[in-house]
Amino acid sequence: MEKRKTLINGICMTLMVMATLGYLILGEILLPSENQAGKISVLDYSDGWYRIEESGEKNEVQFPIDLSSHKGRTVVFEKQLLKQDLANQVLSMWNRGNVLRVYIDGELRTEYDTTKSRAFGVNSPFLYNMIPLKESDQGKNIRIEMDLRNGVIEKIFLGDRLSILVDICGVYVMEMIFALIAMVLAIIGMIISIILRIRKIKLPQLQYFSLGTFVACVWIVTNSAIRQFFFMNVSVVRDIAFFAFALFPMFFAVVIDRVQGEYYRLFYSITRVFAIVAYWFMVLGLFTGLVDLAISEKIVMVSNVLLIGTILTTLIMDCISGRVVKYRAMAIGFAGLAVMGLVQAGMYLLVDSVYTGVALEIGLLFGLLCATYSAIKDVVKLNTDKNDAIHASKARGDFLANMSHEIRTPINAVLGMDEMILREAKEPEVLEYAENIKSAGTSLLALINDILDFSKIDNGKMEICPANYELVQVVNDVTQLLQESANSKGLDLHIEVDPHTINNLYGDDVRIKQIITNLMTNAVKYTEKGSVSLCVTSTRCGGNEVILHIAVKDTGIGIKKDDLNKLTEAFRRVDEMKNRNIEGTGLGLNITAQLLKMMGSELKMESTYGKGSTFFFDLKQTITDFEEVTEALQRSDNENKDIAYQESFVAPNMHILAVDDTLMNLRVFCALLKKTQMKITCVQSGKDALRKVQEEKFDMIFMDHMMPEMDGIETLHEMQKLSEHKNKDTKVIILTANALVGAQEMYMEEGFDDVLFKPVEGRKLEQMIMKHM
Ligand code: ADP
Repeated sequence: MEKRKTLINGICMTLMVMATLGYLILGEILLPSENQAGKISVLDYSDGWYRIEESGEKNEVQFPIDLSSHKGRTVVFEKQLLKQDLANQVLSMWNRGNVLRVYIDGELRTEYDTTKSRAFGVNSPFLYNMIPLKESDQGKNIRIEMDLRNGVIEKIFLGDRLSILVDICGVYVMEMIFALIAMVLAIIGMIISIILRIRKIKLPQLQYFSLGTFVACVWIVTNSAIRQFFFMNVSVVRDIAFFAFALFPMFFAVVIDRVQGEYYRLFYSITRVFAIVAYWFMVLGLFTGLVDLAISEKIVMVSNVLLIGTILTTLIMDCISGRVVKYRAMAIGFAGLAVMGLVQAGMYLLVDSVYTGVALEIGLLFGLLCATYSAIKDVVKLNTDKNDAIHASKARGDFLANMSHEIRTPINAVLGMDEMILREAKEPEVLEYAENIKSAGTSLLALINDILDFSKIDNGKMEICPANYELVQVVNDVTQLLQESANSKGLDLHIEVDPHTINNLYGDDVRIKQIITNLMTNAVKYTEKGSVSLCVTSTRCGGNEVILHIAVKDTGIGIKKDDLNKLTEAFRRVDEMKNRNIEGTGLGLNITAQLLKMMGSELKMESTYGKGSTFFFDLKQTITDFEEVTEALQRSDNENKDIAYQESFVAPNMHILAVDDTLMNLRVFCALLKKTQMKITCVQSGKDALRKVQEEKFDMIFMDHMMPEMDGIETLHEMQKLSEHKNKDTKVIILTANALVGAQEMYMEEGFDDVLFKPVEGRKLEQMIMKHM
């Protein structure tokens, strides 16, 4: 319905515009003229002239006449002025650069010789000579002397000044209008391509085509027969016309070469060299006065025709080979331009009278239209490609979220079950197997985390989340993590923290821990004997800020100087021959460097090949409490010695509901909380959970997110909708493997009381329950 309305509207508007235009055209053609100001009276004054030979003999002539064979000589013409009113009348004559002197009864009336006014060259430019007459000139003798430079003498007209001007302009008005339109469009094209270039969208075709069109229009305007009405020194304008004529085709050569994918580079290089030589030949010839412009102009003309020929030939070749489909619009534009260029050249060479540049202008406008169409298509395509890329990136993000869930969930189950074995098994062999599972499982988890982190940074989804933390805690956690692997390789692990460093800081401790762990893990991995040290010192910057200097040193295999700057490239591993037995993805240092960059720092490294390496960085942190590290480190050292599992609390009266579609996860969940003696009810779907909350009162609910049919979020919403049930005030905590940025906020907004990320660790689970008890 809406479409039909728009169509009817469109048709009505078009009819109205057509009716208006039709009235204008028909009225102007069919109705008699009412115009009085524009009436022109111009008389052809080319008859009745006598040429005075050197011998004094008189021969009757009629203009135009061609005296090219007399070039360099002076010729004289005479005539008796009509016995009619000559007041305000002028004689007008298109002069092809011949030196001119006009006498009336021996009195010099008009002289045209630019010897003193022109900057360069040996000839005067073509222009209309106007010879003013007086009433008293009636019946007098008019004598025209010409020093022939060109040799062709055009017709002469008589009329009042306005009529003569209107008559001349009538011929060139179309040329000027077209030139102005093409110039304005070319300027718009250039501005658009410059604006887009600033916005990093490059449209060289449109830019160069517009530039070429502009210079071509400069040629047409400066070469026009009516240029003398706009410019004062016509010689300068004539020179510019020649430069522009030699210059403008070069821009088109650049464009066509580009759109053809530089396939015919050799051809275009030859034409370009020829064009450049012709240009400089013309410029030097003009400046020195050694070469007549008429000659250099012909050479430039040959060069231009050569380019037109090259364009047409390559277009035909591309049509035959089918390559033309890649640039159809530009090909049509160039074909049009080339053909019209040939027509213009033909007019120039063959039509021996005043010509206009309209043919070339039509070609330019057509070409410009095609170049604009092609540019619009390019921009639209760029936009579509960008949207596709955004979609692809979103798809990748979704895939990551799913992968994060799909892979972490089973690892959760494996590590959880394994922890139960470690807690409950007594046989040393079983304990050893379980230890191995734990070690391999943790490596697998680290690997998945690395890939996820890398993708998150790549997608710009990684965020730095600062919070209050204790430096000692970070150092202890890292030490705990690395102690075992260092011991197993017989390496000494030195932890050197300047005791005066401030302990209570504000920053993203999770990422700082990740950075130090990455560097320490590498140090242990790539060191066979000796030691690995972590050194932490600091500098106070005044106020409540401190710069931490953190360095990880090892006495390992070292890195070659040439390899040092390659280390932070993603997936880059160096010295692969030597390291082939050491596991790694080449992602660790890339992630480390990127995280540091996000925190406003930089990863630096020094290494001596075969002796060892040091990786170090500075990190500015905010102080939250001025307590120093010494005591805290001591305390935490003591705590670390007690590494055996100990439940945090026992609560036999508590009743918890656990919702998860995976039975294995529920088993792990129950096993992890076994020693707290809580009563745990497990259900495997959202529907069952809804039934349970209506039947029984729970102290806390743990709900998995990804479940078939009704997921965790939907179940919570349904639960909130239930009018009456026993768990209106019960805290609901979501269990999720979705570790992407923003996940926590999203769950809290959905109405959950807290979020527990998988793989669920016993200690964290207990802490969560204590927090909400
Ligand atoms: P991965 O260790 O997984 O290969 P990284 O990005 O952590 O990836 O390290 C990239 C490369 O840098 C390693 O493959 C290794 O060649 C080199 N490298 C990193 N740390 C050290 C170190 N402490 N000593 C020697 N070489 C190292």
